Amino acid sequence: MSNTLFIDGRWVAARGGETREIRNPADGELVGVVAEASAEDTEAAIAAARASFDGGAWRDVPAPERGGLLLRVADRLRERKDEFARAESLDTGKRLVESEIDMDDIAACFTYYGKLSGSEAGRLVDAGDPDVVSRIVYEPVGVCGLITPWNYPLLQAAWKIAPALAAGNSFVLKPSELTPHTAILMMQVLDEVGLPAGVANLVLGAGATAGAPLSQHPDVDMVSFTGGLETGKVIAASAAATVKKVALELGGKNPNVIFADADFDAAVDNALNGAFVHSGQVCSAGARIVVQDTIAERFVDELVRRAQDIRLGGPFDEAAESGPLISAEHRDKVTAYVERAVEEGARVRCGGTWGEGELEKGYYYLPTVIDNVRRGMSAVRDEAFGPVVTVETFTDEDEAVATANDTHYGLAGAVWTQDAGRAQRVAGRLRHGTVWINDFHPYLPQAEWGGFGQSGVGRELGPTGLAEYQEAKHIYQNTRPQVTGWFEDRK
Ligand code: NAD
Repeated sequence: MSNTLFIDGRWVAARGGETREIRNPADGELVGVVAEASAEDTEAAIAAARASFDGGAWRDVPAPERGGLLLRVADRLRERKDEFARAESLDTGKRLVESEIDMDDIAACFTYYGKLSGSEAGRLVDAGDPDVVSRIVYEPVGVCGLITPWNYPLLQAAWKIAPALAAGNSFVLKPSELTPHTAILMMQVLDEVGLPAGVANLVLGAGATAGAPLSQHPDVDMVSFTGGLETGKVIAASAAATVKKVALELGGKNPNVIFADADFDAAVDNALNGAFVHSGQVCSAGARIVVQDTIAERFVDELVRRAQDIRLGGPFDEAAESGPLISAEHRDKVTAYVERAVEEGARVRCGGTWGEGELEKGYYYLPTVIDNVRRGMSAVRDEAFGPVVTVETFTDEDEAVATANDTHYGLAGAVWTQDAGRAQRVAGRLRHGTVWINDFHPYLPQAEWGGFGQSGVGRELGPTGLAEYQEAKHIYQNTRPQVTGWFEDRK
């Protein structure tokens, strides 16, 4: 099945006939063979998106009708949830129940933007002159290049597709080359519900070949990227040559700040979730525990005890609580990260090795707790993107805030305390795009998501997530034109 590129409303193979095998990271089994696009295929997809946008097939559909189509997408996703969740788990190795939650969240995202579409009809501006009608209208940006990662393949794509379509854009999606299957299913759904040909296009393949034209091509008006910091810099630099609109959702090194007065059991349990859900392959993972010194020893002992008990296994193993890393290459990166931490003087309290026995079939890495770290060390600075959590301590509120903000990232953070005043104070001082108080990880389609600092540019979700895909246009009408007399008429 290599006709897996969706270009101009048709399923096609890569022009060069190239294909790629997709394997389940939990056991190496073949999941499927998909087309491997070249830059030429992506250029064809860009041309289709451009023609559909310029022809107005979707852009000119009234916004409430566009919203109606998104609501139908949400319905179809709910109907096909099992099939979608299974495909996501096979590509990523994540637990089936996690994929099912992702699919519910994706349907909720389409429902949210389906309802929002058309509710924002522009605004009138008071020009201070009774003879002037001045108004702001919101128009689609145009052709959008959407580039997404492998950790939440369809969720990250949905956060872009739903608002892009709600606003009336055409797009080319380039998902991670490791996890293409749910993107293929999504294109089927968009086709089934009647989206005009050329509005939604899908190219599959490597970033440097299939992805690069999306940030380079003059016919692309906007590139929206979710992925790693270094790739984000390359994409932003290349998009600058044609002054594209750029949205970046990058990595994080997210602090989980725990005060001594926190609900101890809830804080430990959520620290475990924050760090080890999806084996830490989460941009908002709570990878830095910042705990008050008076409870630090007890807290870490408990965290280590619980981390050692986490059961690893494949996506369909009902006893498994967490899964594999995405690839052998990625596991090597996580391994090197922990080795470097040890060289710099950190201590591995548990984990720090690959899974053994049955787990050797996949790319498993044991949940790892590292202490004895200092500010400035690579372990607390760089994203591991694996099941690795570091522990830092503080004595007072100022030191807690300074430690939590000591990162070039700024995606998310949490504060645990039963003192409501302190909770609000600390939340207000944290320089991160999302702050949880006495919780970790929840997000809402109606609430903005994105990063401060080098965690990104722009926001997804919420009304701002729609505005990202719109241009504001000012229309100024003088209803009583007059000669200005500014230049003397010498006739
Ligand atoms: P990555 O940067 O390696 O790849 C992301 C995507 O970019 C892939 O589709 C890849 O093929 C493509 N790509 C790579 N080079 C490209 C190029 N030159 N031009 C165009 N496209 C190119 O990231 P990844 O390893 O897939 O994902 C993990 C990263 O994503 C982590 O850093 C994580 O924090 C981040 N992430 C962030 C968020 C968020 O909401 N902020 C969400 C999920 C993941």
